[in-house]
Amino acid sequence: MDIIKEIMVQFLFALLPFVSFNVYYRDKAQNYNKNFIIITCMLSLFLAMTFSLNLKTGYIFDARHIIMFFGIIFGGFQTGIILLVEFVMYRLYLGGEGKWIGIMVLTSTFIMSVIFSRFYKRANRRWLVSIIAGIVFSIHSGLFLYGYDPDYVQSNLYTHLIFVPLFYLIGIWMLTFLFDKAVSDKNLFIKYTENEKNEAIGHVAASLAHEVRNPITAVSGFLKLIRNDTLPKNKLDEYINISLNELKRMEDVISNYLAIGKPHDKQKVRTDLLYQLQNTIDVMIPYGNMNNVQIELIKPQASVWIMADPDEIKQVIVNFIKNAIEACLEVLEGKVSLSLSLDGKNAILIIRDNGIGMNKDQENRLGTIYFSTKSNGTGLGLTFSFQVIRALGGTISINSRPQKGTEFKITIPLA
Ligand code: ADP
Ligand code: MG
Repeated sequence: MDIIKEIMVQFLFALLPFVSFNVYYRDKAQNYNKNFIIITCMLSLFLAMTFSLNLKTGYIFDARHIIMFFGIIFGGFQTGIILLVEFVMYRLYLGGEGKWIGIMVLTSTFIMSVIFSRFYKRANRRWLVSIIAGIVFSIHSGLFLYGYDPDYVQSNLYTHLIFVPLFYLIGIWMLTFLFDKAVSDKNLFIKYTENEKNEAIGHVAASLAHEVRNPITAVSGFLKLIRNDTLPKNKLDEYINISLNELKRMEDVISNYLAIGKPHDKQKVRTDLLYQLQNTIDVMIPYGNMNNVQIELIKPQASVWIMADPDEIKQVIVNFIKNAIEACLEVLEGKVSLSLSLDGKNAILIIRDNGIGMNKDQENRLGTIYFSTKSNGTGLGLTFSFQVIRALGGTISINSRPQKGTEFKITIPLA
């Protein structure tokens, strides 16, 4: 029964990439990348080999084929090469009679995995490809070993006929299946966050349309006055100037609004946080007005430069202001105040509201996926925003009291 125990340990190592994916990417609106696969597979291979089973002096057995197959499927050819090099070096270091045969077998697993990965990507039934791979790997490693040392294989027939094939089969199937599932869940989540953006934009749109009606009424009133021929020149100029200013303001608000909704390419550039903040507040003021919430800004004298994607930053600010306004729905004189300041190396943005606040439990869950206390909430706004801020090297701290209000303090390193 010892062999079963040891095989379970190998399973554990083989599942390392999957487990780390779930831990590391849990709250991220981002899918895995190649480096992640390379690092976790290298670690998994190292552990598997270090704690391998000694089948016979000099022969070791571990999850290497599972890790190789998985690494190539999700990390590509380059990952396979890196794993092969790691294996060869470590295997030579460990030494023993089985080292050359081991290296030969894994090299052919590497080649076969590259071929399998072509099929895997295109297949409708991916599990079938995994299972065929598992069978092929068991047969070919068995045959290699038999050719090299028939006596040994014959005297351990059960191990090589049952345990080893079963281990590869289940291991490969399980790891690829679980990982595939986690990755497609993550893709779904990323799509949701995109939708969340559209939804936030949609909410604001209603209030914006409402807000734009006022200047239109004002401008059409002035146009009627201007039609009157007896108007003195100075009055005429004044009305035209007011109308132009109103139109300009309307145009700004609308173009800022459109800028927030558009898809962007996530490039970090030198960005003026103050400028983005002012533009976003312009867009959010109508939403505040509609809900009887005032928005004010305390700002520094000069621009505040950070390295960020301006569109992403705007989206983050929208999320915070929108939440703050929504927190104030039930208070009489809702107020959201934003203040931007500098402290040595950081920009500090504080967003304070006098809304419903949060208890400790809610505060702790803030920013985790799908946490929302609103009937029509998605719980994605803050998940996205926290992630963006952390990716900029920033921090977020929260200070909230039930029925009193909430304060978010965000720091972002200056450019
Ligand atoms: P959503 O707004 O869709 O619910 P968010 O991720 O934007 O999702 O916010 C998650 C939850 O955090 C909200 O449902 C709310 O309970 C809480 N929250 C966020 N900001 C505030 C705030 N300013 N005041 C009180 N609660 C807040
Ligand atoms: Mg929200």
